[in-house]
This record gives sequence, C-alpha cells and structure tokens, in this order.
Amino acid sequence: MTLPYRGRIAPSPTGRLHIGHARTFWTAQERAERAGGSLVLRIEDLDRSRCRMEFTASMYDDLRWMGIRWEEGPDAGGPCGPYAQSERTQHYIATFEWLREMGAIYPCFCSRQDILHAINAPHAGDDEPVYPGTCRPAESDGSSEETGSDTRAGIAWRFRVPEGEPIAFFDGRLGEQRQVTGRDFGDFVVWRKDDLPAYQLACVADDSAMKITEVVRGADLVRSTFRQLLLYRALGLQPPAFYHCELVTDDHDDRLAKRADAVSLQALRAGGATPESLQAGWVGDRDERRSFIHRQPETGGSPPAMKR
Ligand code: GLU
Repeated sequence: MTLPYRGRIAPSPTGRLHIGHARTFWTAQERAERAGGSLVLRIEDLDRSRCRMEFTASMYDDLRWMGIRWEEGPDAGGPCGPYAQSERTQHYIATFEWLREMGAIYPCFCSRQDILHAINAPHAGDDEPVYPGTCRPAESDGSSEETGSDTRAGIAWRFRVPEGEPIAFFDGRLGEQRQVTGRDFGDFVVWRKDDLPAYQLACVADDSAMKITEVVRGADLVRSTFRQLLLYRALGLQPPAFYHCELVTDDHDDRLAKRADAVSLQALRAGGATPESLQAGWVGDRDERRSFIHRQPETGGSPPAMKR
C-alpha cells in the first residue's frame, strides 16, 4: 500500500528567505499538489544564537507572498506537532538514546569547528571534513560502558559510519546517487557538546515522526542524505524518497545564500518582482535568470551585490 504523499518545507529563521528557498519551496508545493498530497511546514530553529523572531515573521510573509500553502505547521497545528524544532527536544533525546543503546554512536572530545557547526544543515562549502577517527572506539557491542559515557550533555557524539561501504539512493531529479562511507564522508556529529542535536539527527527524527514520504530540498544537501540514510537504517526506520532541487547560483556559480540579503525575497519584492516573474526565471534560461537577478535592486534597500 502506498502511503499518502506528505512533503515538507523546513526553513531556518537564521536569515531572510531568498530566491533559492523560493525555488525549492515551489518545487515542494508542486510535487505535493501533483501527488494529491499535503505539505508540512517545519521551522528549523535549533540554532538559538542565529535564529531571530524577525526572520520568522518575514518568513511567514514571504511564504504567503509566494503562494505556499501548508496543511500542518506551527500556525496551523496538526497531529505531528509541535512543528518548531525548538519545541521537539524530547523527540531528539529519544532518538539519541536509541542510537546510543545500539552502540551506533560514541562520545567525541575533539574540539573541532564542525562540532559547533553541526547544528545547521551543511550547505555547499561548509560540509564537515572526513573525521580521522581520533575518538572512535574499537567496535563495541553497544553498551554505554563501552562507549565510555552515560551522560549526554557536555560531550559531542558521533555516528560511526561503516568503512568503505557503497551507499546508493535514487533521487527524483538526479537519478541514482552513490557514495562510499569513510571515503566521501566519515563519522558525523549527531549531538553537540552544548546538549543540542545536530541537524542530521533532528532532521531524521522529524521527517520520520512527521511521516514525510518525500523530502524536497536543495542539491547541496545530497551528501547529508547519505548520512541520514545511515541513521534511518540504524534506527530501523523506512527512509522517505528524496528530490534534490537545482541550486540557484550567481555568475560565479556561488550559492546565492552567501549574499542572501541581495537576493532576499523581500528585496526582490521591493524591486518589483512578482511570484510569477520569479517563477518564469526557473523555466527560462540560466542567463535570463541571472540578468533578472542583476536587474533587481536599487529599491528595497539591499543592493544586488551579485558579482559580474
Ligand atoms: N533548515 C534547512 C535549511 O534551511 C533545511 C534542511 C532540509 O531541508 O533538510 O537549510
């Protein structure tokens, strides 16, 4: 029996939504509509140091302006709530404990930047390097005695990835994707030293609990998908399908997020863009889209700092 389609959009209120988000969210909506399914809005607000109320408010404005509709979310409620990650700590702790009982994770005392950064989805250029295995214990039978710690807080925890195992999944847009564990990515952080879940764990716990059947997100998260597939497997959960959207880039093929203000939906809107004019850019040619981005600007406060 096929489950009814449930998609999700998962913005982080750490900045303004930009044209790249618009593209992903429209695609998510289109795929949910085409499948006769529903869309869930999940606010990914775990990174308290970067999330701001003002961004959450403008996110709702932007989503409504874009014509995105969701059946479940922080404002709409629903059976799988709460829909803000900051209110879902118990789910993450349960997932963490489950992984720990199985001996799938181990404490890591390395003070690497990637432990800090693990709270956010790793976009192009900020993915963690392959972990050299400094704190990795010998294969364990999973008891907490062997993982060396019974406490969660104050220690970062990593997921032990198998050595040299080819992992594959079929992406709805990109087709078959393959990576080799230990070579393309290594043991990754699932829990941070400051007692917050890492993006990879929170995302799997939520997509599973919210019964998401297809995850639509940017192509720079393909590498995260491999990690998440390992978590699904370890937890004995059925993974959703995946569809990674093309990224919107500037003239130098840099992700737009780096200059997010210049291409924020708010700035584009102030410069006269309409949802239709933005959408026309996706179907049109890439250069057309770029010149559109270049044309948006003078009004709206934020200059379109796209490099030529
Ligand atoms: N909150 C993440 C982001 O804004 C989304 C990650 C995902 O869709 O899995 O990048």
